[in-house]
Amino acid sequence: MLERRELFPNVIELNFQARRRLGCCVYLVYSSSEWLLLDIGYEDTVDDLIELIRQMDFPLANCRYLVATHADADHVQGFRRAKELLPNAQLVAHPHAQTILESNDRIAAFAEIPAQQISIDLPELKIDRAIDEGDTLKLDDLSLEVWHTPGHAVGQLSFRLGRLLFSGDNIFRDGCVGSIDAHHGSDLPAFIESLKRIQGSGVEWLLPSHGPAFRNDRKLLQSAIDRLDRYQHMADFGTCAVDWPLLDEWESELARGIHPAG
Ligand SMILES: [Zn+2]
Repeated sequence: MLERRELFPNVIELNFQARRRLGCCVYLVYSSSEWLLLDIGYEDTVDDLIELIRQMDFPLANCRYLVATHADADHVQGFRRAKELLPNAQLVAHPHAQTILESNDRIAAFAEIPAQQISIDLPELKIDRAIDEGDTLKLDDLSLEVWHTPGHAVGQLSFRLGRLLFSGDNIFRDGCVGSIDAHHGSDLPAFIESLKRIQGSGVEWLLPSHGPAFRNDRKLLQSAIDRLDRYQHMADFGTCAVDWPLLDEWESELARGIHPAG
């Protein structure tokens, strides 16, 4: 049996386990007999990941859930293959992510970005169960609380396990946040609320969907909140901005007949 490199009790992260970067973070959460995976990454890494899990002595028949933190292709592309290898697992996601995945909405899932010639496979997925704020995912005596944390994506979920939060694409160790993109349904006011919730939650550790885990640091969260607050009023963020104060200034200057040269 391969030695399990636990990140925290009952939690293994498969890039950390493999000691190399395979893709997005894939968390394996386990109880005495059952286990689940949070995200899976791209399809071409699935067989290696499942083999790694088998070598750590997790019975494949005991995988209870495959969880999509949100519908982005880099997190979910491999779920069709994973379902073949883990037939007893239920694929679960937020209702909005379910709509994207079941309708194969390639734009909303970042599988198709025509202006950048990005086009990758996105297998059609059938979600077995929709989950949302207030639900719990149970593995024997272990419970993961489901949080709805929209902002990066409408269907972005996070999961609390005691002092840990699997925080999805809300925030990363360097203070970056999940990409803000109108075609993706990003929402700056909602994003700020999600970050404030995480900041005030009392959770000690954030386990993001990209990069290493890190402490839930008030200052780091505040700097992201302040940055996104500025974005709300900047033309840089196009239709994701809520207003653009320059237009109000301009309107008032036009009405007063103010000449640019003073
Ligand atoms: Zn992501």
